[in-house]
Amino acid sequence: MRLSRLGADLSPNVRLYAKLEGFNPGGSVKDRAAWNMIQRGLADGKLSPGKTILDSTSGNTGIALAMIGAALGYPVHLVMPENVSRERKAVIRAYGANATFSSPLEGSDGAILECRRIYEADPDKYFKPDQYFNEANPEAHYLTTGPEIWEQTNGEITHFVASIGTGGTIMGTGRALKERNAEAQIVAVEPDDAFHGIEGLKHMESSIVPGIYHEEELDRKIGVSTDDAYDMVYRLAATEGLLNGQSCGAALCGALTVASELDSGCVVTILPDFGDRYLSTNLWLGWRDRHQL
Ligand code: PMP
Repeated sequence: MRLSRLGADLSPNVRLYAKLEGFNPGGSVKDRAAWNMIQRGLADGKLSPGKTILDSTSGNTGIALAMIGAALGYPVHLVMPENVSRERKAVIRAYGANATFSSPLEGSDGAILECRRIYEADPDKYFKPDQYFNEANPEAHYLTTGPEIWEQTNGEITHFVASIGTGGTIMGTGRALKERNAEAQIVAVEPDDAFHGIEGLKHMESSIVPGIYHEEELDRKIGVSTDDAYDMVYRLAATEGLLNGQSCGAALCGALTVASELDSGCVVTILPDFGDRYLSTNLWLGWRDRHQL
């Protein structure tokens, strides 16, 4: 989708596009990675009848795994920080998955460690897709997201901007785009602080670095504050009629930074999900305070 109103002040030869990943069946970009990890697990025999799918997830991967597990008849057990949004917990329950909650203070790393403990106590019981270390995660984007963006922009994309959680989106899409045009710039967006409120994202310097994340493949990294990301979510809703999540705000801040520096170009960013699953979070509770309602 072209963001003409948000991009109104850009040079006339700069186009800004957003890929709306909320349209996936489970409502986020993570359907792609979850589906590919499950397919690879089935193909190599690591996932077989009788096993339970187990993973740590900040939410969207959990929803995707819960949906796919339900559809394929596999039980799903998820480990996530206690403070993920109420809506996400409800969706996961609706798909029939079980959840263990880790300390909100330890963020996604706490969930990773708790998930390892559960797995190691009974490894034969589980198939652990392990999205942070599974090459089938970036491969999903290499096979789908990247080629789609290439085709949808008629090969005109010059800059790809995406936020990083596991890094699957940026790694896989980046590789697919670079293969088609080595000049394409791959720009990552991350929270500018270890203590942030951008659900789904990682501040790499202070986190367990995912095995699939190779920073040397990026052309640039942009830090975005929680406040700026939230403000962008409000702006996006009010100016483009698009209600999205926190990480979408962060990605767009990065994309606008990149686009505003160009005389000409085609900048594409990923909006990983829609905003209705965040209505009960600080994102919207805080909006009332900021606007003094
Ligand atoms: N935004 C949201 C809302 C997410 O859930 C995730 C995945 N954790 C991302 C962005 C980042 O995607 P990736 O894991 O592919 O880096």
